[in-house]
Amino acid sequence: MEVLELTRSLISCPSVTPKNEGVLDLLEKELSELGFICHRYLFSDHNTPDVDNLFAKFGSGSPHLCFGGHTDVVPVGNLDSWSYNPFQPTERDGRIYGRGASDMKSAIGAFVCAAGNYIKSPDFKGSISLLITNDEEGPAINGTKKVLQKLYEDGEKIDSCIVGEPTCPNKLGEMIKIGRRGSLTSKITIIGKQGHVAYPQWTLNPINPLTKILSNICNINLDSGTNDFPPSNIEVVNVSSSDGASNVVPEIATGQLNVRYNINHNEESLTKIFDEVVKEEVGDSEYDFKIEYNNSAEPFLTEKGEFINIIKESVDEVTGLDAALTTTGGTSDARFFKDYCEVAEFGLIGETAHQVDENVKIADIESLEKIYYSIIEKYFK
Ligand SMILES: [Zn+2]
Repeated sequence: MEVLELTRSLISCPSVTPKNEGVLDLLEKELSELGFICHRYLFSDHNTPDVDNLFAKFGSGSPHLCFGGHTDVVPVGNLDSWSYNPFQPTERDGRIYGRGASDMKSAIGAFVCAAGNYIKSPDFKGSISLLITNDEEGPAINGTKKVLQKLYEDGEKIDSCIVGEPTCPNKLGEMIKIGRRGSLTSKITIIGKQGHVAYPQWTLNPINPLTKILSNICNINLDSGTNDFPPSNIEVVNVSSSDGASNVVPEIATGQLNVRYNINHNEESLTKIFDEVVKEEVGDSEYDFKIEYNNSAEPFLTEKGEFINIIKESVDEVTGLDAALTTTGGTSDARFFKDYCEVAEFGLIGETAHQVDENVKIADIESLEKIYYSIIEKYFK
């Protein structure tokens, strides 16, 4: 199959997380025909949906280059707002429209075709694989993380990985991601005493210390960034209190924060800072409090060595641009690969990802296939 045809078939499967809807069968069939050995991994866990994953490998020598990606897509949102059916890929004015066109079914199509063409060469001695999950957009518990763990237990060694997430803001070739920030969520709960607003002497309003705590945390200057990372940033994402009425002081108030942090920090250093702020305000008071943390990603940076050079040279050669090496944006499955191998991310333009009328330029998909081919060629030289 050529790249556009494969991309179209992938988009036609309505694989909204965690539903597979035949998308992995289709990919497995295509890769098997090219000579890849395919394994499917179905993982389950408490309170999360079961997820199907695919690992396909060609060759058994080293080095081993892996492509990481996901076939699941986010929901379509308001279907009436779409110009075309999101699961009937539609070509208009040199663009292809459909859910997953940008994030990231076209990149999977491009990599499969690039790898498929490259492995025809009779003197290929390395290994090329694809690790494709159907849950990157959801909880990501039964996806890439577990497949990597299983492969590791089975003695599979991946040397380098390129994740095909859309990394370019406006033009194909503008940006390669060589690391990502960490993400820590904190939920601060203050428990006071409910009562009548007209008799504050008999109540303990938890909103008063909570607002001070949130304000103090937001005024912390964590750092001013590094050469490769923007400054760490704290945002309050939710404030709430127990249901009441306009004449009732609530018993409980909760504030939620999210920190996107660079390599100057880690989970331990950040939780220590926040714990101190909370304790300073309510530690020796009549209020009770609870602080919960969820660190969903540690920051990482891939050293600018040969692998990054190969990617940058390939991107620059095909696009004629001078790609920036950055660590901006949200988290991705690269956060799991980084524990096993060097990893970088390059893919299409992400401007319409997750939006109504998600689309990409058809010419960009073709260029991406050329870029991936060039990366593979240089990598195995
Ligand atoms: Zn994605």
